Amino acid sequence: MRVAVIGGGISGLPCAIQILEYFKSISSPIEVTVYSEAYSPNTTGDGSAGLWGPYLLGRTSPDRVRRWSKRMHDFLEQIWLTEDAAEAGVCLIPCMRLSTSTLQDNDFWKDIVYGCQPLTQRQLDDFNKGKENKFTCGIHFITYTSEPAKLLPYLMKRFEKQGGKMVQQRIDNLEEFLSNSNFEAIINCTGLGSKECVKDCEMYPVRGQVTRYKANWIYYVILDESDDGNYIIPNCDSVVLGGTHQVNDNNTNVCPNDKKLIIDGCRKIVPGLAHATHLYDWVGLRPGRDCLRLEVERAGKKILIHNYGHGGSGVTLAWGCAADVLELLKRELQIRHLTKSKL
Ligand SMILES: Cc1cc2nc3c(=O)[nH]c(=O)nc-3n(C[C@H](O)[C@H](O)[C@H](O)COP(=O)(O)OP(=O)(O)OC[C@H]3O[C@@H](n4cnc5c(N)ncnc54)[C@H](O)[C@@H]3O)c2cc1C
Repeated sequence: MRVAVIGGGISGLPCAIQILEYFKSISSPIEVTVYSEAYSPNTTGDGSAGLWGPYLLGRTSPDRVRRWSKRMHDFLEQIWLTEDAAEAGVCLIPCMRLSTSTLQDNDFWKDIVYGCQPLTQRQLDDFNKGKENKFTCGIHFITYTSEPAKLLPYLMKRFEKQGGKMVQQRIDNLEEFLSNSNFEAIINCTGLGSKECVKDCEMYPVRGQVTRYKANWIYYVILDESDDGNYIIPNCDSVVLGGTHQVNDNNTNVCPNDKKLIIDGCRKIVPGLAHATHLYDWVGLRPGRDCLRLEVERAGKKILIHNYGHGGSGVTLAWGCAADVLELLKRELQIRHLTKSKL
């Protein structure tokens, strides 16, 4: 069995690993090759803080999002319990989601994280003391960050160690590549690249700008869920201050106005940041789509499975989506096998 995964970002690598590990576990011959225009540290995921939490997923069914994100949470829990946690950038972290209006009702994930509770009025009053922004409601819970700048190299190492191959190459047209190559299955995980390589005009960029500070005294996440609210997410060696979500904006340059809004907004929440050291700014384009696409497009002799359009949740859904990709591949192979044996 020869499989090609196109796209070596946070959606592609877990597919490559799960396919390779599954076929090896049943002692079935398998060759998995990842083709990617770029790898870590040059993918969209690399600049993100990697906080677990479904975000910007359009009309994607909450049931599917729940299943995928729960699976990733379980995967992170497994890593966190091993000595690999530091290398993979997986940290257990307390979070507060606050708002000056009302919080969106995202009940479906609240039992996946640990100990989710509303903040009491007393806690809100204490938090608001001396601050301009008066938060009127909030919740707190514990979840994981899996910093992609560490998680991606960890996944690449795991894949290569088991014999997986990685090629740096852009694939302009997936259908042509499928027809002209001797791969039996192709998994498309090209994110925003799907706009071109499979001509998906439903794909659009959601620009995100962030700023990184050295502030190793911040140990918890604060998310201001008000419109255009800021967020503060600690990673292993820096703290991510965010952020923007500009739909249909392709500009990958740092915008000084956005930078000011981010820094001023975060300082209002944590005034001590005024004394912290600025490290760098970063811009990435989230792969936006009204509905995440995870489906088989072409079955039969050659299989084409899509897994893209993860919006602001590519890290959160990575392991769960890859598990579904593997199930689809297994199902397609079984159908092929049955059809062959009937002939
Ligand atoms: C500022 C910011 C903060 C974020 N924070 C979080 C967060 O805290 N938690 C979270 O879950 N998500 C977060 N995200 C979202 C997350 O980064 C994305 O959802 C995720 O990166 C999507 O992963 P992907 O692998 O599908 O796409 P990408 O990361 O874009 O990877 C696509 C890969 O495909 C390759 N490729 C593309 N086209 C081709 C082609 N034609 N041929 C060959 N290779 C190709 C690319 O080189 C790349 O390697 C954030 C995003 C931004 C911008």
